[in-house]
This record gives sequence, C-alpha cells and structure tokens, in this order.
Amino acid sequence: MYRAPLKEIRFVLHELLDDSQLSQLPGLSEYSPELADSVLAGAATFAEEILEPINRIGDRQGARWTSGGVIMPTEFKTAYAKFVEAGWSQLRASADHGGHSAPAVLGTAVEELWASSNLAFKLCPMLTQAAIEAVERCGSEEQKRTYLPRMISGEWTGTMNLTEPQAGSDLGAIRTRAISDGAHYRLFGQKIFITYGDHDLTPNIVHLVLARIEGAPPGTKGISLFIVPKVLINGDGTLGAPNDVRCISIEHKLGIHGSPTCTLTYGDRAGAIGYLVGEPNRGLEYMFIMMNAARLSVGLEGYALSERAYQQALEFARNRIQGRPAGASSAVDGKRMPIAYHPDVKRMLLTMKSYTDAARALALYGALQLDIAEHTSDETARTAAQTRGELLVPIIKGWSTESGVQLTSLGIQVHGGMGYIEETGAAQFLRDARITSIYEGTTGIQANDLLGRKVLRDNGAAIVAFIADMEADLEQIVSTDVSICENKSAALEAVGQLRNATATLLERAPAGHERVQAIAVPYLMLCGITAGGWLVTRAHVLAWRKADADPEFYAAKRQTARFYASHILPEALALARVVVSGTDAVREADPSLM
Ligand SMILES: Cc1cc2nc3c(=O)[nH]c(=O)nc-3n(C[C@H](O)[C@H](O)[C@H](O)COP(=O)(O)OP(=O)(O)OC[C@H]3O[C@@H](n4cnc5c(N)ncnc54)[C@H](O)[C@@H]3O)c2cc1C
Repeated sequence: MYRAPLKEIRFVLHELLDDSQLSQLPGLSEYSPELADSVLAGAATFAEEILEPINRIGDRQGARWTSGGVIMPTEFKTAYAKFVEAGWSQLRASADHGGHSAPAVLGTAVEELWASSNLAFKLCPMLTQAAIEAVERCGSEEQKRTYLPRMISGEWTGTMNLTEPQAGSDLGAIRTRAISDGAHYRLFGQKIFITYGDHDLTPNIVHLVLARIEGAPPGTKGISLFIVPKVLINGDGTLGAPNDVRCISIEHKLGIHGSPTCTLTYGDRAGAIGYLVGEPNRGLEYMFIMMNAARLSVGLEGYALSERAYQQALEFARNRIQGRPAGASSAVDGKRMPIAYHPDVKRMLLTMKSYTDAARALALYGALQLDIAEHTSDETARTAAQTRGELLVPIIKGWSTESGVQLTSLGIQVHGGMGYIEETGAAQFLRDARITSIYEGTTGIQANDLLGRKVLRDNGAAIVAFIADMEADLEQIVSTDVSICENKSAALEAVGQLRNATATLLERAPAGHERVQAIAVPYLMLCGITAGGWLVTRAHVLAWRKADADPEFYAAKRQTARFYASHILPEALALARVVVSGTDAVREADPSLM
C-alpha cells in the first residue's frame, strides 16, 4: 500500500531548501510552508485513496481503442471527475485564467504523489498543463480566452503533438503540413505516440501540434505551433462539429497501460482546422520554452516510481522470512529472520532509498531555481537562478529516470521470484518506469542538451559556478561527527572529479562536438550523482544537528546519507574516468563491426 512520503518531502522543502524564501518574491507573497503542507496533505489523501487503488486496474485493463474513440477504464473516469472537482487541475496554472499559480517547487512535490500512485493517470494532467503553458505564454488573447479557462478547470484536456514516424528525436524532420485557409489553417499529416491523444474523460481535447506551413524553410527553422481542438468551438463557446482529426490506433506497450498512446491522423477529409500560436516558424522555440517544466515533470517520475517500488520492497523484506543473516545477534540466533536483515537486502533497500532521496532533493532544488528565476525582481539573481535551473533540468531528467529504471528493477530483486510474478505488483513499477528515460527526450538527447546548450555554449560558466558553489558549501561544514566528516570528503572528492572531467570536456570540445558526445551520458550521470551527493551531505548535517527533535526520522536520514556517501558517491570516480578517457573507444568504433 502506498503512503505519500510527506515527511520526506517536507524535510526537503522546508529544512533543506528553506522554501519560506519564496514568500519574499513578487507574486508569491501568499506562499508559506504551512500552505504548502496543507496542499500536500490534500494531495496525499487523493493519491492514496483515489489514484493508488486504481493503478493496477489501469495496468491490467488499460485504455481501449474503438472506432468511435478511445475508452478509458470506468475507474479512471470517476477519478478524473474527482480530480477536477477537487481543483487539482488548477494548481500550477496562472491565476489570470483561473489557476492557483502554485510555484514549480510545490507543483513538483505534488506531482510526485500523482506519479507514485498512478503514473498512467498523472500523464493526462501533466500534458494538459504543458499545453496550458504553451497557450499562456505564446497564445493570442482570444486563444487564451477560448481555451485556458476550460483546460485549467479540467473540463478539456490537452496534448503535445511532436512525434511523427520519421521525426522522433530529430524534430527537424517533421512533415505535417499546414495550409493557410482564411483566419485559420488546415492541417494534414500523422502524429504517433501521442499521450492521451484520444479518450472519453472529457468532451474535448486541445491538441498542440507542430507542423510546417507550406513554403516554410526546411529543418527546425520552418516549424510552427498550432492549436487543433478535437471538437470545433462555436462562436458562443459551445461545442460544434468534430474536427478532421482521428485516432486510428493505440499502442500495445510495456507499461503505463492506462495511458492511451495514440496515432492521430490529421486531414483525412478537408484538413483539420488549426489556429497558429504566436508567429510562424517559431514552433520549436515555443516548445523549448515549455521544455523545462515538462522535462522536470518527467524527471520526477523517475524517483516517484523508485519511492513507490521502495515502499513495496521494504514491506516485503520486513515480512519475508528466509534464512539467518550472517552475524545475527544472539537474541535471534537459531531462528530464521526477515530478509530485511540480510546484508545484501539491506544494501538494495538503502540503494533505493538513498538514490530516491538524492533525486528528490535535486529535482526540488532545480524547481526552486526556476521559481526564483520567474519571480525575482533582482536581475542578477534572476539570471543566476535561470542559468542554474536550465543547467539542472537535463541532469534531473536523465539521471533520475535512468536511476528510476535501475531502482524499480532492484525492487523486483528484493522480492526474489515473487518480484517477477505480476501478482505482487513490483513488476509494474519497472514496466511503467521504463518509458521515463525515453519520452520527453531520451537520455542521449538530455546529455547532448546538457553538453551542447548548457555546458559548452557558455564555455563552462554555468557548470563551473555550480561546482564552485557546491565546493564552497561543503568546505564550510564543520563537524565532530565521524560519518559526517567521511560524507563531506566523499562529496568533495566527487566534486573534484566533476571539476576535472569538466575541464577535460572544455579542452576537447573545440576539436568537435563528436569528441564529447561519446561521453555525454556518463558526464550527465556524473553531474547527477555529484549534485545529489552535495544535497544528501547537507541533509546529513541537518539531521545531525536536529537529531533530538525527531530521533527516528533523523537517524534514518543519517543512515541513508552515510550509505550514499560510501556506496553511491564513489561511482563518480569511475564515471569521471570514463569521461576523461572513454571518448576514442566510441568515436573510433565502426558500427559495421558491431
Ligand atoms: C509511451 C510513449 C508516450 C509518448 N508520448 C508522446 C507525446 O505525448 N507527444 C509526442 O510528441 N511524443 C510522444 N512520445 C514520443 C517520444 O517523445 C519519442 O519516442 C522520443 O522522443 C524518442 O524518439 P524516437 O522514438 O523516434 O526514437 P529515436 O529518435 O529514433 O531514437 C532512437 C535511439 O537513438 C538515439 N538518438 C537519436 N538521435 C540521437 C542524437 N542526435 N544523439 C544521440 N542519440 C540519439 C536515442 O537516444 C535513442 O536511444 C511518446 C513515446 C512513447 C513510447
């Protein structure tokens, strides 16, 4: 049974990151840690009581394609209606159009609970929120009036239509055509893999579609963004005729069965009516504006599923009796014990717990930077926070989701054979997690983004500043506690490795990006492990100082941090070595010999 880890989240928000600072920023004066707690408490109840109980129904029953449209499990329909009724769809959206303008850090904390309890469900509001942001930031006043109130209220949902059969990571290859037709355009083409591209949860779906206006330049510079409603809207706001867009199939896939992944055809007849968002040929640029939020949201899915898998593995390990651990205390000598006492099972559980803690802390830290960037009136602070947030987004997305796949797999391992049997549910977490490192940009694409746009473009300024901040922060830790001192030196060692690896990258990059792309993913992982280690070390110090306030909670925090320092941080050494010396083995390799 899933229990929202509220104490863990509050610890990160209030103690580690001091989210009370947000209330000093223009537009966030009403924010307070108490308000965040009450929102989180409500979200926890919704996640535990409404979303979690239907997670397996979504997995087993899934969405169903019919010629009349996609049919969702009845329980999803009921849950969606309750989600809307409770106002959760409004949390992140701007107050100007009926939302609550919650900061990204709170939104990220809440979304973890949706993703842990029911990832397939979470994708619907997530994609709608991305579409809302597209219209909020780039749409005309009329488009905002027409679409935002009904999307924000949850009456309609939204989708993001980028992918086509020949255009996945390479969006410059998009072929969907848009032909001008008076005040609107007519779209022709096919989109694949569109999450919630069709369903019966709401009477309308607002598709945000990338397409090429006739005569537009080739490649990424000729792509525009369009609003294409599933059902056209009459002048008085009522729903009119169906638009020329059709879901011709849904995918049969490894996980997230409750989330319909649709193939949509546009323009089987006279062309789907679409409305240009912003200026022609700037569609990809607009998409990139929203990319930070969307990638952060997928990043959190990695640790959300790890948290869920960890909770289940821990419960199983406490109850499964098997053998007697080496060195078991004399009080239990001779008796068989729960597997949670076996050293290797402890190691697996601590791996799951410590990675999850680190990834959560990093994601919330990154979200906080985006909030500061959005709200502060101090230009220097704004630039610094924006640069830091943008640097971290691909790291959060790539590292958290890749580790999510490993950790949900470890969750199965803890269960032994029962983990492989669907009945326990452990396998679903791995199956669901597997997509997170693929959609919204694969890990390879995140790593290219990190290197190309975030590290090399400013000649290392953003990453070097981050390294310096982590180092200065770690250096000023003074403690008489042995495990904190060990943790500090392990974290500093990892930071040192990251600095050396970064210097090597910067040295080699002028000779051509292919020299560094070969080690881009190991570099991203090095960044994640090191940044996570910095935050875990800070958490360790806080837990040491506050030990008396809540002995059990802080002792658990310390044990997790100690494990991260001695088992996870050393991975930074190996990754740094790959970054420094692994390029040529890839660059000079010949695919025809593989
Ligand atoms: C369940 C599901 C839901 C999805 N939801 C949506 C959605 O709602 N909207 C939408 O538009 N799309 C959606 N997608 C599509 C998804 O975003 C793409 O699948 C993803 O971006 C990868 O594209 P691709 O599948 O074409 O893989 P490819 O681009 O063919 O990549 C294959 C492999 O090559 C690597 N690769 C490709 N190019 C490069 C490069 N330049 N450098 C290094 N490595 C590279 C990739 O990392 C990957 O390992 C969804 C996909 C799935 C499976």
